[in-house]
Amino acid sequence: MTTTVSVVGSTGSIGTQAIQVLQAAATAEPGRFQLDAIGAFRSVDLLAEQARQMRPRRVALGDPSRARELQERLPQGVELLAGPGSLVEIASGVDVVLNAVVGFAGLPVTVAALSSGVRLALANKESLVAGAPVVQRVRSTPGAEILPVDSEHCAIHQCLRAGRDPSEVAKLVLTASGGPFRGRSEDELASVTCSDALAHPTWDMGPKITVDSSTLMNKGLEVLEAHELFGTPFDQIEVVVHPQSVIHSMVEFVDGAIVAQLSNPDMRLPIGYCLSWPDRLPIAYGAIDWKSLAQLDFEEPRPDTFRCLALAFQAGRMGGIAPAWLNAANEVAVAAFLEGRIAWRQIATVVEDVLSACSSQDATTAEEVIDADGEARSRATAIVAGGRTGVKVASG
Ligand code: MG
Repeated sequence: MTTTVSVVGSTGSIGTQAIQVLQAAATAEPGRFQLDAIGAFRSVDLLAEQARQMRPRRVALGDPSRARELQERLPQGVELLAGPGSLVEIASGVDVVLNAVVGFAGLPVTVAALSSGVRLALANKESLVAGAPVVQRVRSTPGAEILPVDSEHCAIHQCLRAGRDPSEVAKLVLTASGGPFRGRSEDELASVTCSDALAHPTWDMGPKITVDSSTLMNKGLEVLEAHELFGTPFDQIEVVVHPQSVIHSMVEFVDGAIVAQLSNPDMRLPIGYCLSWPDRLPIAYGAIDWKSLAQLDFEEPRPDTFRCLALAFQAGRMGGIAPAWLNAANEVAVAAFLEGRIAWRQIATVVEDVLSACSSQDATTAEEVIDADGEARSRATAIVAGGRTGVKVASG
């Protein structure tokens, strides 16, 4: 049976790897998938290239100002949708929607896919974390389900797969690579640069998630994501630093048994898993060579240096709109860091300042979530602009 696929955010790191998986699957299992639609906000060159190679039925471009330019470069018969709503338009009418949009901007895609009752391969954790009150409601639409592309959650999905009773789960153990700054002291981290933060030791990812990984905010968001996906209470979610990124996460059961998923770091494995679920794709991405795997190490994350992790747990326990505030403040702070406007250590300070002003008020509609996001964003923007973080703003 052919599975029809829409890749929203097809030009980013996850999107381009998804295209590679679909190309490999076309050889390994001809007819297994049909790429129905691809879409991106503004990467016209790559979209045109992907359309030429993959011949989807539809292409969506979020930024309408370059629609004419893209139209001229699309192969005959490929339909172009343009404008802010076009990415939402391609998030239904297929078997699987891969949401690979970066950040909170992915929320409408997540909501559209689940409301239309399709399988959502979710690579956009921010939409689930910040939009949880709304996403959880549309998740119960008949036919809708979330398959996590995030490697840790995909690992847990695989560990839980034998249909075990949730009451048998004692703990989820999320592994973290520790990022590029693992083992560094507070003082050493005072002067780290953008390119230091973007040099991830084990994963090759986009800039936003790579910075999140350096602060451990990525792991913090993943704790919230695990809570939403699997319904696990926060005191049953543990984070362990595992620098080799070979164990992608683990589930500990009440009898002490631990089930883990192992593979070399390669996002094409979780992408293929989510696209082909409930079957497995016969392409071995990240298979381990046991003769060359020397050792697996584990250590505790350092809460004083990587404050974002504790802030995420705090927002999760507050509930309501607090995770949306945490996420919005982080997106603003990371963007400011990438533009050289604040120092690395101030990312956590901005998030902490914003979160300290947050009530744990509930949100029930998408508008309320978007309002909460907007409010936290303007507070974070003001803090970044005013340098009201208690830390000297970086110059140059
Ligand atoms: Mg992850």
